This record gives sequence, structure tokens and C-alpha cells, in this order.
Amino acid sequence: MTPIPHFVAGQRRSFPGDAPTPVLPVISPLDGATLGGVSPASAAVVDEVVAAAAAAFRSWSQTPIKDRVQPLYRFKHLVEQRLPELAAEVSRENGKTLDEAAAGIQRGLEVVEYACALPNLMASEILEVSSGVDCFSRRLPLGVVAGVTPFNFPAMVPMWMFPIALACGNTFVLKPSELVPFTPLRLGELLREAGLPDGVFNVVQGNRTTVEALLDHPRVAALAFVGSTPAARAVYLRGIQNQKRMLTLGGAKNHLVVVPDADPAVTAKNVASSALGCAGQRCMAASVLIAVGASDHVVDAIQSEMARWIPGRDLGPVITASARERITGYIDLAEHEGARVRLDGRQASVPGKEQGFYVGPTLLDQLRPESACARQEIFGPVLSVLRVATLEEALAIENASPYGNAASIFTTNGAVARHFESHAHAGMVGINIGVPVPREPFGFGGWNDSKFGVGDITGRDAIGFWTQSRKTTVKWTARQNNWMS
Ligand code: NAD
Repeated sequence: MTPIPHFVAGQRRSFPGDAPTPVLPVISPLDGATLGGVSPASAAVVDEVVAAAAAAFRSWSQTPIKDRVQPLYRFKHLVEQRLPELAAEVSRENGKTLDEAAAGIQRGLEVVEYACALPNLMASEILEVSSGVDCFSRRLPLGVVAGVTPFNFPAMVPMWMFPIALACGNTFVLKPSELVPFTPLRLGELLREAGLPDGVFNVVQGNRTTVEALLDHPRVAALAFVGSTPAARAVYLRGIQNQKRMLTLGGAKNHLVVVPDADPAVTAKNVASSALGCAGQRCMAASVLIAVGASDHVVDAIQSEMARWIPGRDLGPVITASARERITGYIDLAEHEGARVRLDGRQASVPGKEQGFYVGPTLLDQLRPESACARQEIFGPVLSVLRVATLEEALAIENASPYGNAASIFTTNGAVARHFESHAHAGMVGINIGVPVPREPFGFGGWNDSKFGVGDITGRDAIGFWTQSRKTTVKWTARQNNWMS
């Protein structure tokens, strides 16, 4: 088996430095089939990929922004035309249902649309700062920049990064998760078909070693990362040490609060799809449900809704056999600690796909706030219910979490919603929304251990992240201007 190629200077290719036999198998979670294998790029291979991106930087950065976004317009149309094919690729390597895969890609395209609008957003400022003296500022690209992405959104998370980075005039090296190496190759080919010059977008396959080579490479000016919190923290610190611009998004433990006046039908649909969509493998997934006071009728409605999700039909598998073991281990532990297992997904099996890594909808009730299921990221289709008497108790639990990605409340009372919105410790808050992902032009980003660095990864903050500002002062008269001479 030859290793899965990189995508460099406009084509799929491997390098003499690549190990001839892949060491990291890529397995479809749908049925356990081996799809290929990755040979993690060494520092020498990373150097070749970065060199290709550096070679493309000179002319790309000098291309006017209105021209730079033209391939992105065409890319958007190509992705829309090939959506079924691309969604099938995402589903095959990640396990999402086809609808989920398509939705993720479409969400990524919203960032492409935002990037296409940059010529209208990046017009600079000019001011006469002294008599006959003008000062203007403009934002210029950084150079070769990199993105490191997780397994759970093979197309969307890369699309949070490269469209804005490229429109801003940088050239890009993407290091996708070693578990989902195929979709990024298709993205590279579609960008090329859309007319993006060779070397402007590149993909290097690999793992931690490859990321460290990017972090240590002197030509990489900035790196954005999305993944688990321990990796996000380590990557951030190493990048900062190497004086790179860094933004790293980490894991999450999202709290959804339900109060007795919540609309049971609306709440049940939203909570179930937040907890179970993408098999719970979303950094925005509902993980802890805090039921305030007499909310039994709402929790019952949530249970009925979750029970409707059929593995293999509505619910895809989790990413690997070891992820399934980790998730079922959490359920075992909760049961051992005395939690009431209201829905149990441990024995899920899909006829004809017995080798797939399925976990069914799982609802754990009456957990203690200190239990592992209530505090740690499980990243599977498991919802843990805590019972409290007051909204203040619910907020105290949410506020104590080291994470801070998303938090939502379900209520029909505006004052309760307003209070929650003001006091939750999370970067993205929902009111009667289970997955409160901000849509463009609002930026995506959490707080606390869910993010290291400043600003959001999309939206206006991303323009700041992928550029540096230059201020130029101009004088065309011989007149003396105080200290400006
Ligand atoms: P992961 O941290 O295992 O891997 C993410 C990427 O980092 C991969 O490309 C991997 O090769 C690389 N990597 C892993 N360990 C590394 C290390 N020590 N040093 C350098 N690079 C390393 O994450 P995953 O399992 O692929 O993805 C799931 C995690 O990502 C969850 O924790 C989830 O919450 C998080 N996530 C967060 C967001 C967000 O926006 N905050 C979005 C999606 C996923």
C-alpha cells in the first residue's frame, strides 16, 4: 500500500523523504474498511511543502485582492456542483451521515462567501494628519501560513481558515487530521480547477511530528489550530515560543440549561440534535443538560426525541474503535457511580455494518456534578443530566467548567434568558438554540480552555489574524510641518 499523497504545488505527490509504507491506517468508521494509510511528513518533507508555498507567495501577495477572490467564487460554485461527491468523501472517511456531511460543507462555504466579500471590507483608511501630510493604513499578508485541523469536520474546519487567509494574500499549508486525509486533497484539486495558482494552497499529511515541524519552521509566519485542549495548549505554547502568530481552538464541555417553562417540543428537538448530531463529535455538541426545578416533563420529551435517532440511519458511527471504547467506558463509569441510564447506546449495531464503530443515543440522568461524565469531554452521543433547584445553581456549574465554548438556555421567559446570556462563561451562547454556532459575519470562537490566543477564527477577527497592518505617511510639499519636518 502506497501512502496517501500530499497536495503540493497543484498536484498530489509524495516525496523521497516519505516512508515507503504508511504507518497510520485510515479506516472508515462506517464499516471498518481500510481506506489507505498516512506516512507522517518529516521535517524535511515539511520543508519542501513550505518551500512550494513560499515560492508562490511573491506573485500571489502582489495580486490585487479583487483578483485573488475570483478563484474563491469559482471554488464555491464547484463545491456546490460536486456537493454529493464531496459529502460522500467526508462520510466515507469520517462516518457522518450524508446530510450532516453536506451541511458541514455548506457551512464552510459561508466562510468562502465572507472571503469573497473581503475586497469590500478591506478598503483602508486615510487621514490628513498635518497640513499636506496624509497617513494611510492597509493590511498586508504575513507570508506562508498554516492550518492544523481535527477529524470531526474534514471540509468545514479547513474552510474556517484557508479562504480568508488566501484572500488576504497569504499562501497556505494545511495539515489535516491523519484520520481524514482524503477530503483535503479534493479541496486542493477543486481550488486548482477554480484557477488558484499552484503552490498557493498545499496539504501536508501527518501527525504531531508534522505539526511540530511546521511550528519550528522559520518560514511559517502564523498557524491556526483546531483540536483537543491538551494539543491546542501545547501547539500554542510552542508556536509562541517560536514567535509565530498563533490561534488555537480546543475542546469543549457544553452546558444546556432547561427551566420548567421551556417549550418541551422545541427543547426536545434542539437538545436531541445538539447531543446526537455528528454522533456527538462536535465542539458545539450538548454534553451536559442541567434541568432546573420541576423540568421532568421536558427531560421526558428529550428522552423520547433522542430515542427516535436510529444508528446507521440518523446517527453515524464515532471515528475509531478506540473512541467507541472510550465513550462506552464513560457510560460504564456513570452507571457504576449510580447514574440512571435512561437510554443506553453501548450495544448499538447496524445490520450489514457490524464492523462500524456505532454508539447509540445515550441519556444518563441524576449524575453528580463532580462525576467524570459531567466534567470531561466525552465526544460521543451521550447526554448527561444534572438536577438543580435554581438557575443560579445551574449557572454556578456552567461557570465552573474549565471550558467555555458554548452554553444554551431553553426558556419562554425573556428575563431568564437575558440573565443567562449575561452570566454564562462561554464565547457562544444560545437561547432556545441547541448548537449556537454564530453564522457569518459573526466570528467563531470560545473562551477559557476552549481557545488560546486572541480573537475568533472566522469573521472580522480572522482578517486581523491573517494580516499585518502598515501605516504609511506621505508628504508631497516642501512645507515645514513641526516635528515631521
Ligand atoms: P486532536 O487534538 O487529537 O487532533 C487535532 C489535530 O492536531 C490533528 O491534525 C492532529 O494530527 C494534531 N495533533 C494531535 N495532537 C497533537 C500534539 N500534541 N501536538 C501537535 N499536533 C497534534 O483532536 P481530534 O481528536 O482530531 O478532534 C477532536 C477535538 O477537537 C475535540 O476535543 C473537539 O472539541 C475539538 N474541536 C474543537 C473545535 C473548536 O472550534 N473549538 C472544533 C472542532 C473540534
